[in-house]
Amino acid sequence: MRAVQIVKWQSDPEIREVPEPEAGPGQVVIKVGAAGACHSDLHVLYDYPEGAVPYELPFTLGHENAGWVHQLGAGVQGFEVGQPVAVYGPWGCGRCRMCSAGVEIYCEDPANAFVPSGGGGLGMNGGYAPYMLVPDARFLIPLPDGLEPVQAAPLTDAALTPYHAVKRSLPKLVAGSNTVVIGVGGLGHLGVQILKALSSTNVIAVDVKDNALELARSSGADVTIRSGDDAAEQVRDATGGRGADLVLDFVAAEQTLALAQKSVRLLGDLTIVGAGHGTIPVGFYTQPYEVSIQSVCWGSRPELAEVFQLALRGQVKPEVTTFALDDVLDAYRQMQDGTLKGRAVIVPNEG
Ligand SMILES: [Zn+2]
Ligand SMILES: [Zn+2]
Repeated sequence: MRAVQIVKWQSDPEIREVPEPEAGPGQVVIKVGAAGACHSDLHVLYDYPEGAVPYELPFTLGHENAGWVHQLGAGVQGFEVGQPVAVYGPWGCGRCRMCSAGVEIYCEDPANAFVPSGGGGLGMNGGYAPYMLVPDARFLIPLPDGLEPVQAAPLTDAALTPYHAVKRSLPKLVAGSNTVVIGVGGLGHLGVQILKALSSTNVIAVDVKDNALELARSSGADVTIRSGDDAAEQVRDATGGRGADLVLDFVAAEQTLALAQKSVRLLGDLTIVGAGHGTIPVGFYTQPYEVSIQSVCWGSRPELAEVFQLALRGQVKPEVTTFALDDVLDAYRQMQDGTLKGRAVIVPNEG
């Protein structure tokens, strides 16, 4: 079968002929229905020199996956061939405290994880291929009726990640609170929808692009601000001069983090969601008192089940543009030049 693989660090991916996977004991092969293209793929492909990331090459990209059970390995129970499923993306050891709580991305025993800080599409073969091996049936979540793989795939990362980021700040998102969302792409537009679904916070979306601000409005943002020199001032105005109770930075570049730090209010949360390389100085005088600054990565299995329920209720609905397997580079280019609206989803079994 053909698969889109990372073959060399700091290079374009390649489409290569690879063997179809076989399910060993406890494993499952899925027929891939949809695999979301994530901005973090670009970081993995182009940012890191050899040795910077603990992954061995080559592997098939695509860490946001849903499809149908294709082959069940010996001993796997509770699934049927043809059943629609989504894949919980991070694959830890399954036994440590974090994995036991379903937060496998924060596995505390990476030496015994399937791959340290990764999963299918991140260090192991992912979903940019017609078939994908899932090395333990615990990573499969049955899709509820009414949820198609093309919608479900982006839920496993592009919605799960902002859901996790929003949920930890929920006690602060009371009526009259304000939340700033910086960067309204694949994750950001779902972040806006999740904020509106879970809280009564006033959502202020900030981006440099018209199409992103339009997507923010259709996702439910109350206020949109075009990012520029006066963005922090506009945020102050939109929050009655107080600043935001929560700032979610989906970009994490130098400028967006500076804006986030200027936008957050006393006792607020500044949460870094984007995998950008920006930094901000933190000290006694650099932000209002009792601001918490944190980075987050992905989310837990129970949270993914919750995200599916939001999707079934129509409260979370990814804006999706589909691409064939051969057009992965087009999807990445559109992400890089800012012309992509919402999430790019690869459909490897089309046609
Ligand atoms: Zn991702
Ligand atoms: Zn673990």
